Amino acid sequence: MHKTPKEEVIKYLGTNVESGLSSDKVLARLESYGENRLIEEKGETIFQRTLKELFGFLNILLLSAAFISILVSGHFTDGIFIFTIVILNTALSIYQEQRAKNAVSALKEISSLKAKVKRDGTIKQVDSINLVVGDIVLLEAGDAVPADIRLMETVNLKTGESALTGESVPVEKNADVLLKETTPLAERVNMAYMSTIITYGRGMGVVVATGMNTEIGRIATLLNQVEDESTPLQVKIKKLGKLLGTISVVIVALIFLVGILYDYLGITDFLIVDLFLVSVSLAVAAIPEGLPTVITLVLSLGMKKMARKKAIVKSLSAVETLGSTTVIASDKTGTLTQNKMVVTRVFDNDKLYEVTGKGYELKGEIKGQNAEIKQIAHISLLCNDARLDQDNMIGDPTELALIPFAFKAGLVQEKLRESYPRIDEFPFDSDRKRMSTIHRVNGDLCLYTKGAPEKVLQVCTLYVKDGILHEIDDNFQQVVRLANEGMARNAMRVLAFAYKKAEKDIPAEKQEHDLIFAGMVGIIDPPREEVKDAISLCQQAGIRVVMITGDHKITASAIGKELKIISDEAQALSGEEIDQMEDETLIKRIKNTNVFARVSPSHKVRIVSALQYSGNICAMTGDGVNDAPALKQADIGIAMGITGTDVSKEAADMVLMDDNFTTIVTAIEEGRNIYQNIRKFVGYLVSCNVGEVLLIFVAMLLSWGSPLLPVQILWINLVTDSFPAFALGLEPKEKGIMNRLPIDPNAQIVDKKMLIAISFQSVFLTIAVLISFYLGRFVYHGTYELASTLAFTTIITGELLRTYSARSENNTIFTMNPFQNKWINFSTIIGFVLLLAVLFIPGINKVFHTDVQMTFGQIATAFLLGFIPLFGGELAKLFK
Ligand code: ATP
Repeated sequence: MHKTPKEEVIKYLGTNVESGLSSDKVLARLESYGENRLIEEKGETIFQRTLKELFGFLNILLLSAAFISILVSGHFTDGIFIFTIVILNTALSIYQEQRAKNAVSALKEISSLKAKVKRDGTIKQVDSINLVVGDIVLLEAGDAVPADIRLMETVNLKTGESALTGESVPVEKNADVLLKETTPLAERVNMAYMSTIITYGRGMGVVVATGMNTEIGRIATLLNQVEDESTPLQVKIKKLGKLLGTISVVIVALIFLVGILYDYLGITDFLIVDLFLVSVSLAVAAIPEGLPTVITLVLSLGMKKMARKKAIVKSLSAVETLGSTTVIASDKTGTLTQNKMVVTRVFDNDKLYEVTGKGYELKGEIKGQNAEIKQIAHISLLCNDARLDQDNMIGDPTELALIPFAFKAGLVQEKLRESYPRIDEFPFDSDRKRMSTIHRVNGDLCLYTKGAPEKVLQVCTLYVKDGILHEIDDNFQQVVRLANEGMARNAMRVLAFAYKKAEKDIPAEKQEHDLIFAGMVGIIDPPREEVKDAISLCQQAGIRVVMITGDHKITASAIGKELKIISDEAQALSGEEIDQMEDETLIKRIKNTNVFARVSPSHKVRIVSALQYSGNICAMTGDGVNDAPALKQADIGIAMGITGTDVSKEAADMVLMDDNFTTIVTAIEEGRNIYQNIRKFVGYLVSCNVGEVLLIFVAMLLSWGSPLLPVQILWINLVTDSFPAFALGLEPKEKGIMNRLPIDPNAQIVDKKMLIAISFQSVFLTIAVLISFYLGRFVYHGTYELASTLAFTTIITGELLRTYSARSENNTIFTMNPFQNKWINFSTIIGFVLLLAVLFIPGINKVFHTDVQMTFGQIATAFLLGFIPLFGGELAKLFK
């Protein structure tokens, strides 16, 4: 399409530049060509993954044991049972993982890209996946190009194409150029390609290819990059599993040796096959294989919960990192403040006047009116891209605020813009901090500029006062500076305005010089009310809040003080000051600097890096095109769902659906809770594994034989324990979770504190079950089956009751409402129902070798002994 003239392309695609496609045509095209999405190559199917898992090392070991037991000892039911349970467990964990993955991709879709199109004669915002060939798309800085587009109109349009061509320098586009068939992709300036980004300017064009027919769609290899989804925590858990595995192999070998030795010495006569089976099941029992799955599940549920609270987290790792965040570096405008800007002062190069009125209402007045103020209002309406209709507000809040201001000066946006049409422009960006437009004014051309006062002053040589032009001298500079600082001290954002007669046929960007300074306005943007509490919560939780803004240092400091981020202006640094600092100095200064003013996006990367260098885990917000590098550099890059550009959303780890700082704090709180809960069930499950190994080891040393049979161990590990573990993952937030320091990401998950808890619990579990087994064997003089049934009853009761203690690492069950977590109550009930089924339902109890005659006293004692591990868990807390 790059070689065909615009008109022909439009005709060929059956569309219209003015009105776009009709809805009917869009529907028909969507149906025949499909959605505009890149189809990622499917990974393994569920079936393939199940097979792979099923024939993993551990399962093979277990399954061979089952086979040997069937062949040698004729334990048919045991073999079949082990086989069934292994298959069920594998299937369940794969199903859960798949669900978690689906939840992650569903969340990604919520924050998926939108495109502005002309359809049925109006401009609409649609999901990019619903674009069809022939759609007329509007593009502006910060947008991701949603399909392959033949450009129809370009205004200073530049695109970043590194994702497609590898070229890192933005490419200037021009809709009016015709190219040769052979022009390479990277040089096709009249086209914009899917997955590139608009870095500057704006444009309009027609979609010529969608989905897999786009240039990027054809480069299939790019799409097949499979990310490693393991989070740092999961990696740690896998390591822990390996460690436990190794320890258990050693213990198993010992048990095996003891068995053979005792056999040899004639102390007891163990069947080698039974020994083998016990050892293998123990080996498997000792490894918390289910843990990575439960962690994935809990993290993904956490993600869903965060989404309900308006924070869309894009990866499971980010959920974890949130809990470790030590610094939040937040943009000011719109995140810490309301982004409801109102002009409250105007300065006519002589005096300050008050402007009354609220929000964007066209009510209020300027206290004092003169020709200079009218001129300021005139520039502010024309050098402005925002629109404010009765029910429609489009554009940047700073610019929106100027519309009611100009109205109060007697100017109406539509009329003025029609009378003085725009010929050219040099758009605003956060680096230059000013913008200019050229208009036709009664046959002449005029250049209008607005921006940060010092940036506007830089390009002015004259100023106007009482209708007379004067040269700008030191004295005037001083006057402007004082007026600017006066407004800034009252937390106002200040904009200056300038104008001059423009020359023909010279682009606006070449004419920003020798302007006439017209005056300034002061705009207030009050802090969000709820943010103050959120900031004090952060400070209590050991999280530093840093404000980053493009505004003047004095404005920024005034707001910083109001929000209690700083107490003194000395804790603020400006972009200019940062420029003059070496990295080492910045790292030193950053320790007590919480406000960064007049920064541009490039400073943000240095700020994040310096914060990280001092050991911080840094969350940083960003909304503009140029914020992407800083968002990527940050540990948690946060984009704004409402005002953010596509580019920032793509680069971020988290998107705030309400652009609100408070939501970041809520997400951190959730992150901390999820980590706490993961610790709880890791501790819980590992104690059980260690307890079982210890139990069998001690029993073998005492030559009592294993108190638990392999089927029973498997039942406990894979069935009984998984409900409480999962329920612990859903524990509500503990009080005081924000009174602690952030989680150290390098800390071991099993630290000293957890080790003490695990030791206590596993020892108490062992004691309880040994007593139960001892009673059965030597006090009630029952059979081995009776003793092991009592032991089985005690361990399961112990496991179920112990969950209530595992709910908190610090608080005892007496200091919290023990039944608050309904999932735990639920899982306890299920656990006991299953236990009763295993004990008393004929047939089932045969499988578990629990079909024995017991007196009420015996079974009641076994249940009562189950309270001992709970007691151990509570004792461990006191010990700590
Ligand atoms: P924050 O970083 O707090 O979110 P911001 O990103 O809006 O603020 P910038 O957009 O970089 O900050 O604005 C910096 C300065 O540029 C403002 O103080 C103002 O003087 C000027 N400015 C802001 N918006 C415009 C605009 N649309 N046109 C001209 N100048 C502007």
